Amino acid sequence: MKYKKEEQRALLKRSKELLEEPNATGNKAKDQIDDLIKTIVYHEWRYYVLNEPVVSDYEYDHLYKKLEALEQVNPLMLRPDSPTQRVSNDLTEDFPSVAHLIPMLSLDNSYNIEDLQDFDKRVKGLVDLPEDAEIEYCVEPKFDGGSIALVYENNALIRAATRGNGTMGEEMTNNARAMRSIPIQADFKKYGIQKVELRGEVIIRMDTFEKVNKKREAAGQSILANARNAATGAMRVKDPKEVERRGLEAFVYQLGFAIDDEGDDKLSDFKTHDEGIKMLGDLGFKIPKSGYERKVCKNIQEAHQFCVEWEARRDQYNYEIDGMVVKVNEVALQNKCGYTSHHPRWAIAYKFKAKQATTKLLNVEYQIGKIGSVTPVAKLEPVQLAGVTISSVSLHNEDFIKTKDIRLGDTVLVERSGDVIPYIVKTIDDIRDGSEKVIDFPKNCPSCSTQLVRTEGEAAWRCTNPTCEAQILQKMIFHVSKDAMDIDGFGKSYVERFYEMGWLKSIADIYRLDYDKIAQLEGFGTKSAANLKKAIEKAKQNPIRRLLHSLSIHHLGKKVSRLLAGEIKEVLDLTKWEEENFTNIKDVGPKVAENVMTFFREEQNVALIKELESLGVNVKQTKADEKEEVITDGVLSGKTILFTGSLQEVTRKEAQELAKKAGAKVASGVSSNLNILVVGEKAGSKLKKAQALGTVEIITEEAFLKIVS
Ligand SMILES: [Zn+2]
Repeated sequence: MKYKKEEQRALLKRSKELLEEPNATGNKAKDQIDDLIKTIVYHEWRYYVLNEPVVSDYEYDHLYKKLEALEQVNPLMLRPDSPTQRVSNDLTEDFPSVAHLIPMLSLDNSYNIEDLQDFDKRVKGLVDLPEDAEIEYCVEPKFDGGSIALVYENNALIRAATRGNGTMGEEMTNNARAMRSIPIQADFKKYGIQKVELRGEVIIRMDTFEKVNKKREAAGQSILANARNAATGAMRVKDPKEVERRGLEAFVYQLGFAIDDEGDDKLSDFKTHDEGIKMLGDLGFKIPKSGYERKVCKNIQEAHQFCVEWEARRDQYNYEIDGMVVKVNEVALQNKCGYTSHHPRWAIAYKFKAKQATTKLLNVEYQIGKIGSVTPVAKLEPVQLAGVTISSVSLHNEDFIKTKDIRLGDTVLVERSGDVIPYIVKTIDDIRDGSEKVIDFPKNCPSCSTQLVRTEGEAAWRCTNPTCEAQILQKMIFHVSKDAMDIDGFGKSYVERFYEMGWLKSIADIYRLDYDKIAQLEGFGTKSAANLKKAIEKAKQNPIRRLLHSLSIHHLGKKVSRLLAGEIKEVLDLTKWEEENFTNIKDVGPKVAENVMTFFREEQNVALIKELESLGVNVKQTKADEKEEVITDGVLSGKTILFTGSLQEVTRKEAQELAKKAGAKVASGVSSNLNILVVGEKAGSKLKKAQALGTVEIITEEAFLKIVS
């Protein structure tokens, strides 16, 4: 190991400090530069050698930019061994090195609209355009895989190489030939091109990646951290047959070099970047699709908008991308812009907000749920993830902690992607210093000290004490929630406050509140007390499916509550139910049946229902509880449908009724379960989302009406 653990911890700590520190001046700048070089060299080693970074790309980039900025202000302090003085390198001795026809440069990074506007301003300066002029940009995804350069001569693929250090790459022609998305022959001569060098990215589809990992897991091999590692690793396999098996693909996104028979440049034949990419598509290469992955934008604002759209969509996309690339579209303007020694001046990467970051696990707290499940929650040193500060994440259960070997004091890698709740990917165990402590899962309930039990087949330890105060509180919070009795304005904080005042000891107390007393409380008043009363009175009239769900019976969810409500005249009918009553209903499993039976055989629960009834809560079947007739022989039976945009012939409600009558289920949003999307005028994000899924049938209002008529 190149670095000792203590050193690594110190470097990681220093990195985080450097990110916060303002740039130093005078002699102090030298210390900062030295520290930046030390930390950046360390992070490059973690990233390129170990393939296991301990900071996010965003943090690394910021350290790098800080160093560049300091060196620019203090040119005398520039060290020849500074990481800014060389380009990154993936050369090993396993494959022969070859020189690229044109150096493969990296891209400068941007993170927001301001960065993009600065870039746009710089470009205008370089091409002598006034500030209010508009420059056209071609924007496409920045694939997160391994870069390659492909050389074709006389229509044949003669060489493929990795990016390497930008000037020299590793030759991997045989492996490239094993990738089906790379044509071995392509008719460049049709365009008068005799020799050409293309740039692309070797990647692996997310679903393929998951399959690869499952296979590795089954074979007892280590799990690959991400799709990029899987792709770059597979590129280097020495057996082309194995490369083929790993399902690698290559997107081609740039013409680097092209000449005709005379040796004259052919790149300038293309007016725009977009035109060149289109030709590559026509020749059979895999390119970012126009109108989907690739868009010509009329100015930088539109380019930014496209980047933002893709950031929102990245988790639904089947390839790993870490940003977008914004390129000046017109080739003549590109030529005017030229290059620095590191990157083209006519292109910039727009990096998405980091989904991953490392931080320290400070403590574990245990939360008790409404059915007594104990959930460990990790308290973290606050960290920024995809634009949000995260300070705690769920550790789910004891097995999760054990499998990942998570310890107190560990440095952990946390991820937050899209709508997914943040979670711990892994601990960075190779920088432990011995002070980390194994997490002792409690044996007794943290609230009532009852010994916890774990039922076979379940992940959670549970407190089974029916009078456990923590559970009762959670049950009450759930009872009033939107999903259950839906008492408007009655949130968690009210329940907790009234509980502390001693007013709430059981669910029934919710219907016994003294509104005069509430009106006297600080922050309340006659009006809000009256509103609360109104909401509670309204909830009393709820259909019994809501009441059933609100009782916190283990496994009894919304759906089965509805099914049961459809079968009974009143709630206490369930006291007489036997197993077969449950199993006669489709979609009601034996587990939930047993839990409901147990619940309604316990005297105190029966007493609770009676008490609720005496307090005015409805316990009898209402119209809303009656079974919905499902039409199984309609033209749309078994299909899920959704409407979007404004419909012209019928109202949204009428359309939904027509769909239901034809047997369809009306969905509330676009998901993989959706079968049909009916598109009215001015359809927006739902349409885009459905298109991105690729599995949804998209029809017009007219077509829909024809189907149901
Ligand atoms: Zn307890």
